[in-house]
Amino acid sequence: MRPEKHIDLYFTTRSPADGDSDHNLRLDKQADVLGMSSNLVVMNQTHSAKIEQVSEPGEIDADGCFSIESGLALSVRVADCVPVFFWDDDATLTGVVHAGWRGTMAKIALRFTDKVQHQAGIESHSLHYSLGPSIGKCCYNVGEDVFKAFSETWPNSRDFFTRCRKGFFLDLRAANRFLLNAAGAKEGGSLELCTCCERRRFYSYRVEPGRGRNWGVIIRHGSQS
Ligand SMILES: [Zn+2]
Repeated sequence: MRPEKHIDLYFTTRSPADGDSDHNLRLDKQADVLGMSSNLVVMNQTHSAKIEQVSEPGEIDADGCFSIESGLALSVRVADCVPVFFWDDDATLTGVVHAGWRGTMAKIALRFTDKVQHQAGIESHSLHYSLGPSIGKCCYNVGEDVFKAFSETWPNSRDFFTRCRKGFFLDLRAANRFLLNAAGAKEGGSLELCTCCERRRFYSYRVEPGRGRNWGVIIRHGSQS
């Protein structure tokens, strides 16, 4: 039997309706299957570092959100960027973050933990996080401009780049891990899957730009207390 209060986390794979871009890009069409279409929170993501607290279903302009309400399905869509899912020790809070290279460089993961602390009074060391499938350092070849931009704003970030004859390779998961571990958050249940290597299972912007998005959803069930 499932405990009265619990948190579910979903991550979608490629759909059999692969040729239908409308299907691929709209979670509400898929959420019906999971019975979540009426309690869905969808972020209009712009690679910003904006975090919002939410208390009802709907669309918001943000790249991260959290809630202390039970039953809200917080969603994030990615096709190489890192989806980060959050919950706390008491299963009171859920959250999601969309971290591409811009968001990671702007330390969106720390903006999330700061905002949760200020608005919900939950300390970062009470938080747990999970990283979803995203492009790995094996495949994330970036330009020197990205390397320079990181180095200028974040001195330690050089550690997250591998330089070889093919250029610079960025480890986005390691960068987000570094930030969250430094804040005292605990990692659990991450999936070490590269969307580019696993292109038959997930959408990858690098492989097929605009083809579709993988959706991540976190939802808390049970009472508020
Ligand atoms: Zn890869």
